[in-house]
Amino acid sequence: DPCLLWLRRDLRLADHPALCEAISRGAPVIPIYIRDDSVTRLGAAPALRLELGLAALQSELEALGARLILRTGDALEVLNELVAETGAGAVHWQRLYDPAAIRRDSAVKTGLSEAGVTARSFAGHLLFEPWQVETGQGSYYKVYSPFWKAVRGRDPGAPLAAPSSWPAPEDWPDSERLEDWQLSAPMRRGRSVVASHVRAGSSAAMAQLDSFVADRIDRYGAERDFPDRPATSDLSHHLTVGEISARQCWQAGWRALEEGKAGAETFLKELVWREFAYHLMYHTPHILEQSWRDGWEAFPWQADEDARVLAWKQGRTGVPLVDAAMRELFVTGRMHNRARMITASYLTKHLLVHWRIGQAWFEDCLVDWDPASNAMGWQWVAGCGPDASPYFRIFNPETQAEKFDPEALYRHRWLAEGQAKPSPEALQFYEAAPLSWDLSPEDAVPAPLVGLKEGREKALEAYEVVRSG
Ligand code: FAD
Repeated sequence: DPCLLWLRRDLRLADHPALCEAISRGAPVIPIYIRDDSVTRLGAAPALRLELGLAALQSELEALGARLILRTGDALEVLNELVAETGAGAVHWQRLYDPAAIRRDSAVKTGLSEAGVTARSFAGHLLFEPWQVETGQGSYYKVYSPFWKAVRGRDPGAPLAAPSSWPAPEDWPDSERLEDWQLSAPMRRGRSVVASHVRAGSSAAMAQLDSFVADRIDRYGAERDFPDRPATSDLSHHLTVGEISARQCWQAGWRALEEGKAGAETFLKELVWREFAYHLMYHTPHILEQSWRDGWEAFPWQADEDARVLAWKQGRTGVPLVDAAMRELFVTGRMHNRARMITASYLTKHLLVHWRIGQAWFEDCLVDWDPASNAMGWQWVAGCGPDASPYFRIFNPETQAEKFDPEALYRHRWLAEGQAKPSPEALQFYEAAPLSWDLSPEDAVPAPLVGLKEGREKALEAYEVVRSG
């Protein structure tokens, strides 16, 4: 009897334990993707990224004579229907770790088992399962450095090969059409601009990893903080939809380390930040919506959206580095890590706006949106998260610009206002921006929303509420 391979955030055929085990059953394998908006409500850019990823996976499967079956609805109902249609005896999938997915998956497992179908979930999204990494006291880690020490010497095993042929069923079940899903419709004007910056699919991901390890990892340690330099791997948008596995990245980084390449250890450490984010989301799921640290409920964040929040989203705060970064986000669906820290710090500290407002905007705009990394990143910057930087360490965007964008290349690339000849990237922002924003490259350079010194002092004052308990 066939096996249904239920794909979610694992749009790849290589290093796919659930797929390998399905093939080893010696019967046909039917890959499916279920659109279930009640559990996976995606923001606009993540939905576009999913659309591009599904299209790439469809081609990959077609090259092997296989198909990706698309269905909409409640996961258990859809799976039951497909079991009835195909006579499948098993359903395989790879685990996810956010509370909504865990709830759904355990209900699906129970439901299928009750119907006499073998339901099996596998590891594969992470290097190590969140419960496999424990402190000496048998608890979870709350601080990154000991977490890193605990995993750095561990071997996640060798990546599994992709199948060279596909065990196809005689008849394929019906599939909905990806075009009909209109996944990227919420992107509106931004769709083609953002899509032009994304190369989706497993082969693109592998090529990206290979070129990073061959050409850039040497410079990664020294240059990864400079937002204008293409020094980082740009693998996050592939990892988030699973076009490449963390283990494939880890093994490539580890080989580079053994070859004595500079930057390799830093790269491995960054992959472990992703692991740490998942570890925290699994053990303390409130990280997704509430201050992770106690005592922050009283913090006087501004909780509603106003003109200043809109200016931040539009890249019109009057702080050029912040504005450049917000434009990069809107045009490419990515933002450099240092720029993420600076824009998040500006919003939550200089403007005292709640980190959840920033978290939601990133969730709508990032093609690499990941629930765990986004929540951890925002809480880390805001000061209420695990292992957070101390609140009084407030990024000064001007000093940061002098240090990390000394020739203003990044700011020039992304900002049109005040420039005689704006770059093509800076102009793309106006192709993508909602018409209701009514912005033009000829607009005057915006005046600062708040003085940097004044903003900093207000933030420190507000922090006294938390400090005094
Ligand atoms: P590289 O520097 O090449 O790093 C390699 C990989 O390590 C990345 O692809 C990523 O998977 C992982 N990684 C690196 N830094 C981090 C980190 N700080 N936390 C977790 N994993 C990390 N990352 C996301 O993938 N999705 C998000 O939604 C996200 N939101 C963020 C929000 C804020 C406020 C901040 C400060 C950071 C956020 N990050 C997020 C982390 C980080 O900015 C991105 O992973 C990184 O910029 C991706 O670029 P890269 O692939 O070139 O990274």
